Amino acid sequence: MILIKYLHIGIDDTDSPEGMCTTYLACHIIDELKKAGIDIVGFPRLIRLNPFARFKTRGNGGVSFKILNDEKVDLAKKIVLDEVEKLAMFDCDNTNPGVIFYDGEITKEMVDYSFKAIYSFIAIEEAEAFGNSIGCEIHKFKKGRGIIGSIAAIGLPLDDFTYELLAYRIPENQGTKRHIDYDSVYLMDKETFPETFENIDYNEDYIAIEPKTPCPVLYGIRSNTVEALKKAKDIVKVEETVENYCIFKTNQHTDMHIQKVDNISSMNQFGCYEVVGTVKNRPTVIDGGHMFFYIFDESGEIECGAYEPTKNFRKIVSDLMPGDVIRVFGGIGEQNTFNIEKFQVIKLKDIEYKNPVCKCGKRMTSAGKNKGFKCKKCGNKIKSNKKVPIKIFRNLKNTQFYETPVSARRHLSKPICRMDL
Ligand code: ATP
Repeated sequence: MILIKYLHIGIDDTDSPEGMCTTYLACHIIDELKKAGIDIVGFPRLIRLNPFARFKTRGNGGVSFKILNDEKVDLAKKIVLDEVEKLAMFDCDNTNPGVIFYDGEITKEMVDYSFKAIYSFIAIEEAEAFGNSIGCEIHKFKKGRGIIGSIAAIGLPLDDFTYELLAYRIPENQGTKRHIDYDSVYLMDKETFPETFENIDYNEDYIAIEPKTPCPVLYGIRSNTVEALKKAKDIVKVEETVENYCIFKTNQHTDMHIQKVDNISSMNQFGCYEVVGTVKNRPTVIDGGHMFFYIFDESGEIECGAYEPTKNFRKIVSDLMPGDVIRVFGGIGEQNTFNIEKFQVIKLKDIEYKNPVCKCGKRMTSAGKNKGFKCKKCGNKIKSNKKVPIKIFRNLKNTQFYETPVSARRHLSKPICRMDL
């Protein structure tokens, strides 16, 4: 049996808030490799890492792809390093590119490292020591922080995955207003949802495929299948030149950042979790429009937040009542509050205990501690202290999921339309 050997290439931290995008750079490199007769194997991968990483520019994404490990690898490495040198935003203090070449098998320790990069924090020195220990060829530019994400982008298994098709703008248009025919985006969504998703936020009239930053991306469409992306691309019309397209295989919208825990006290700050708890108090809004309430279990309690950018989601959250049992998905941020991405109703409190109704029709009042009830209208008295159960009408439904709107959703969050996949 002939074992095919690959060279894995990981790239991260090449962009800045003013421009560039590591996916654009990767797409550029893939084109240059092609010109040199080197094809990548399979799809390039866009891997989203810890959403709380301190030095991220936007969505904390690293890129990796692989080529055959043959006589052309030295040329390939030169092309990759030259393009990073040429295109990365070196002027920005916070841009510290890292490139990794790795020609071995993906080992369990690499998988563990990659999940660590999603669940917690890794220092540059730790990434470098790990990379050296597994035989990576490491290239650090400036501080080289990008090696942290580059190694993870190579090592992360994609048991669940989605695809994103990215269309890129020509350099002279980058930073200017994008010219996308919005009607065609509505049509695309109508024709391809739920195979494509996160296209439009209908409540906000927000076109989610269009970035709001000066990066080279003209639009990005997310999907479960490549076929749906091709269909979607044919429907979306733009009134500017598209420089290039690239489809990435990605961990976006898989909930890969979420760790399932048994109780509230097992969670830590800057981690993302799925946990079941009972609602303690009615959600309340504070200045700025953020909404908060507590959930508890036998181990402790935590404040949950639905922040102002989650817009109408707060209306849904406001329907929660003390006693409701819910499963929340989200992350614990700066303020130690659990930032809800979505929740599932496990058991609604749909019974309330009230004073009995008198035979005259009036609701009775307490006649004093352990003295039963009395009717203020007709004077009737009963000795029983038992309140009666009353069914409450609830807007929320048992077992149903409720999620933040597309406009406020994390790259990694699994939308409800993917929950059964
Ligand atoms: P974009 O989404 O536009 O590609 P970005 O948000 O991915 O930008 P980067 O410029 O890639 O931001 O910066 C993120 C930095 O954080 C990279 O240097 C990456 O190596 C590093 N990083 C990623 N995950 C972790 C982690 N778990 N701990 C510490 N650093 C991390």
